[in-house]
Amino acid sequence: MDLGLRGRTAIVCAASKGLGRACAEALAAEGVGLVLNARSAGPLEKAAAEIAQTHNVSVVPVAGDIADAEVRAAILAAAPAPDILVNNAGGPSPGKLKSFTAEDWAKALEGNLRAPAAMMAAVLEGMAARGFGRVINITSSVVRHPIDVQGLSAAARAGLHGLVSTLVREHVGRNVTINNILPGPFATDRLISNFTFQAKQKGITPDEALAARRAELPAKRFGEPLEVGRLCAYLCSAHAGYISGQSIGIDGGAHPQIL
Ligand code: NAP
Repeated sequence: MDLGLRGRTAIVCAASKGLGRACAEALAAEGVGLVLNARSAGPLEKAAAEIAQTHNVSVVPVAGDIADAEVRAAILAAAPAPDILVNNAGGPSPGKLKSFTAEDWAKALEGNLRAPAAMMAAVLEGMAARGFGRVINITSSVVRHPIDVQGLSAAARAGLHGLVSTLVREHVGRNVTINNILPGPFATDRLISNFTFQAKQKGITPDEALAARRAELPAKRFGEPLEVGRLCAYLCSAHAGYISGQSIGIDGGAHPQIL
């Protein structure tokens, strides 16, 4: 299916690897030009060059922490009229309530709530004026299915979901949609670092923790990042203008729901 995206421009935040990069790859494969962000310039520039070469699209890297307002301004200067915004950031630190420091709280709320809020505030009106806009927030299945050591993640992301629910109706009449993707366990560096934390708590090796988790998943595997990327590309497509305000789980059946 042609997603009708050729020639569009997307901002993809936190995208030198993992799920963000997979979203960038899937959009680039549809002919979308990109502004790509991550903190470390070297890996970001490498990712940008690889995506540009593979898919023959323009990819402009803008390095820096998405929680930093100046970095967001630089991203928006590189793509002043984006058609697509993919909000993403590193996940908050795992831990127990009493272990969360003021710095942990600030990082989670700035990166996973305020940064996507600020990016949406910057782009939504322009998208509405131009008659096309797609916003995707990469959040987590933890919003619906709590993991006890992911309290910071659940708190910041549930806040973002609440905010999104108040924005959807304002812009959908002008073909601007906002949806959240809630990944379950996907095979990325983030997953491995989370399991390293859990393994330490349980006194087992990270590989043992990963194998145990894989065995208990209904799909008997972790998700592949490009599965999130292709879902993202579809939700951004010309055909998805009637899908907005949805929180779409992608978890290999790990968290079945009646409604
Ligand atoms: P990942 O493989 O570690 O990749 C994270 C990417 O984001 C990297 O490109 C990283 O590059 C960039 N990044 C991190 N913090 C950033 C920041 N503050 N500003 C700009 N760029 C930043 O992680 P992932 O698995 O793709 O996870 C992406 C998001 O999905 C996270 O919020 C994660 O919690 C969430 N999630 C992941 C899973 C999973 O199973 N993988 C499941 C549910 C939710 P730099 O380090 O150079 O900045």
